[in-house]
Amino acid sequence: MEINKKYKIYNNKFNIPELCVPAGNLNILKYAVAYGADAVYIGGSRYNLRSFGENFSITEFKKAVTYAHERNVKIYLTLNAIINESELAELKKYIIAISKIEFDAVIISDPSVFEIVKDLIPAMRLHISTQASISNSIAVNFWARLGAQRVNLARELSYEEISQIVKKSKIDIEVFVHGALCISYSGRCMLSKYLTGRDANKGQCSHTCRWKYYLMEEKRPNMFLPVDMDKRGTYIYNSRDLCLLEKLELICKSGVSSIKIEGRMKTENYVAQVTWVYRQALDMVKSGSFTAENKKYLLEELDKTTHRSFTEGFMFLPNKKHSELTGNDNVGYIKKYRFAGSVEFFSDKYGINIIKARNQFKKGQTLDLIQPGKKPSSITLKSIINFNTLKEVDVVNTNDLVIINELGNFDEFSLLRVKL
Ligand code: SF4
Repeated sequence: MEINKKYKIYNNKFNIPELCVPAGNLNILKYAVAYGADAVYIGGSRYNLRSFGENFSITEFKKAVTYAHERNVKIYLTLNAIINESELAELKKYIIAISKIEFDAVIISDPSVFEIVKDLIPAMRLHISTQASISNSIAVNFWARLGAQRVNLARELSYEEISQIVKKSKIDIEVFVHGALCISYSGRCMLSKYLTGRDANKGQCSHTCRWKYYLMEEKRPNMFLPVDMDKRGTYIYNSRDLCLLEKLELICKSGVSSIKIEGRMKTENYVAQVTWVYRQALDMVKSGSFTAENKKYLLEELDKTTHRSFTEGFMFLPNKKHSELTGNDNVGYIKKYRFAGSVEFFSDKYGINIIKARNQFKKGQTLDLIQPGKKPSSITLKSIINFNTLKEVDVVNTNDLVIINELGNFDEFSLLRVKL
């Protein structure tokens, strides 16, 4: 197995960590499970840091837990908002309402939530969120003494620091390996609240760090002075997206128990593809086949999802060169492929899965068919039949239901993507 010799290995145990994946709704959770998640983390309508995401109702929580557990997948409830004094009574009512649902753990950052969950659901496992900015082993073991079972470390730590923390910690350690980063210390940020009234600590972040900024001198209110680094201006707070795929063997060597993917606001298309890539990578690490060629292939697959420029973040930041994190050639998203369609239902009459178009595609275009557990394959569309009219069509528009016979038999969780 290739292990980068530059990094000192602190732990003897080689651990294949749990793959922990986000899901913003029940449909996305099903894709996360199908594409290889070991655990899924979800949020309710309240007290989680994605309050603008779709999120789950209490009824949906029950369905989600049953669905995940029937497939041997763990399910964690995220309750990691910072709580104000005036919210405590409502918080207690909410925790009572979810107390009978058999989550595998609750993810918290505010000690008030920790205390209330411990009090009302004593058997519940408690995981400490990255929002708590835990950055050393004494802090981890402090939470362990209080009864926590896992800590998701601050994203600002180096590989060496993480490895040493794992060695000295009494409970499980989890790290983020993929997805959006904040320029603030693990999400502790007032920028969004200050500029838009939307509080990032309540899950309402408006991503103000990714706006374009100018400098203004107080006596010249209409003169905006660019602080340019290139011709489009300087996005001084804008971070790249984290991607630690290439360092996965080293991360396994660090002894962490869980690797986490960010993105509870992402579509099923994104969650399925990223989950598939990391599942393949972990399985390859386990079997000793995570070769340079396989890494390159999987990295190319990640590049087909919609993302910002990638960085290996603070964990492998070369000589603390922070410009590597913020030097963002693509301040917006890199989008090389578009989500074309997903399976809507199986037609008994025609014996085939019916596809619902999620964006426009046309006859003659090459589509990739993505399926759980398989490498994506490509087909050039020769014939498309509209399900409602049963007539051949050249162009498929968003929400059209279509039959594509040349796809043959394919999984109910299949997805189609088209190159832009
Ligand atoms: S504004 Fe940016 S840095 Fe602040 S919480 Fe939101 S994403 Fe993070």
